[in-house]
Amino acid sequence: MDSPTVILSDVKACREALVEVLEGAKRILPFTGAGISTDAGIPDFRSPGSLWTANKPIPFDIFCAHKEARIEAWRRKFNMDDRFAGARPTPTHHLLTSWVKQGRAQAVITQNIDGLHHAAGLNEDEVIELHGNGTYAKCLNCGCRHELADVRKHFLTYSVPPECESCGGIVKSATISFGQAMPGEAMARARHLAKSCDVCLVIGSSLVVYPAASLPLVAKAAGARLVIVNREETGLDEDADLVLRGEVADLMSPT
Ligand code: NAD
Repeated sequence: MDSPTVILSDVKACREALVEVLEGAKRILPFTGAGISTDAGIPDFRSPGSLWTANKPIPFDIFCAHKEARIEAWRRKFNMDDRFAGARPTPTHHLLTSWVKQGRAQAVITQNIDGLHHAAGLNEDEVIELHGNGTYAKCLNCGCRHELADVRKHFLTYSVPPECESCGGIVKSATISFGQAMPGEAMARARHLAKSCDVCLVIGSSLVVYPAASLPLVAKAAGARLVIVNREETGLDEDADLVLRGEVADLMSPT
């Protein structure tokens, strides 16, 4: 039978428990959500008053079907980018980078689209982006990459986003919208790492967005310890071995 979840909220106790779990770990799997980037100034999705909830996300099928939806999506995207242009990786992003570079973790799995794990020094193959990346765009038809600066220039000049110059396809930010297929390769690699880690450490995710949130459960089912760092309850607290409740910056700072 599984042992019951241990829930800690005292900062010192949380830090000590984390050190103890990680000390014995050979393969740590960090799994990050929007809560790792709030200290960088980027609001998360579900906290009260979030900009993201004020603007109901545009589902993928609506984006594809309606030019007006695409115009609105790009208008919002450029607004957001202007607001968060100054965001830089936090000490927690850098800490995770150091684990990968030391070989304690093979890669970081993230639901984030902000590119801050790359900005903290991880290479392309050291970050698994489940929901894509908002720092560039892609053609939905031929998959070729488009730079945001070019899309913006066209948008400002013609008030509509450009079509792909190679194939005439729809150009979309390289993120995964609601209703859009998950990136198969990223999911497969994430599942593989989940099955072979010994600690899965979830940082700043509400763990309610599936199939991403199934990965910590894959790790747990394969025998890993599941540790959740968050300021509030998450969708998987009951499945965790250890829940550390508090601020990411406080709990993740090296002791
Ligand atoms: P979420 O907003 O659903 O959950 C974030 C969780 O982190 C919440 O439970 C919140 O209480 C907690 N949190 C926030 N700041 C914290 C802090 N400083 N310390 C401790 N806990 C903190 O985010 P999610 O689970 O990642 O899912 C949201 C989806 O929205 C993702 O798919 C993601 O792609 C997208 N998103 C991305 C970004 C980003 O890239 N930075 C930002 C917002 C939304």
